[in-house]
Amino acid sequence: MAKDPWLVPVTTLRRVPGSSRHEARVGRVGALEVAESRVAAGSDVSADVVLSALDGGIEVEGSVSAVWEGECRRCLSSVRGVITCEVRELYRPRRRHEKPDDDEETYPLESEMLDLGPLVRDALLLELPVAPLCRDDCAGLCPTCGANRNDAPCRCLSSG
Ligand SMILES: [Zn+2]
Ligand SMILES: [Zn+2]
Repeated sequence: MAKDPWLVPVTTLRRVPGSSRHEARVGRVGALEVAESRVAAGSDVSADVVLSALDGGIEVEGSVSAVWEGECRRCLSSVRGVITCEVRELYRPRRRHEKPDDDEETYPLESEMLDLGPLVRDALLLELPVAPLCRDDCAGLCPTCGANRNDAPCRCLSSG
């Protein structure tokens, strides 16, 4: 088994509040899908982040990027692109009495390892285009005959 590319050992970092450390990681996060676009399960995604030890936990700031693919919402042709998202999230230890649905948006911090996986997945899911277009002025499919109007205007156009 390959080791999890998203686990970062943080014991040393947490010992010195104010210290920080750069991490560049590449790996897979499994399939991500939003409506008409997705990051394939076998596709590598990358994270380039700085971890900073704070009093209450560890702040992770940087960027996450991945190749996505999908279908144009107008003409259904396949579309590919790269998404890059800026991230800035706080990981902090969960206290025993805290409910898991604590309204503060933080990620759990175990004592020795910080798991970048959930942050990477969440960031990409938010950034995936919900209704992608192959190009801004895609002419789409004809609702009458189904022809792709990007290829050639169909005869139906004249009657409308
Ligand atoms: Zn299109
Ligand atoms: Zn037509």
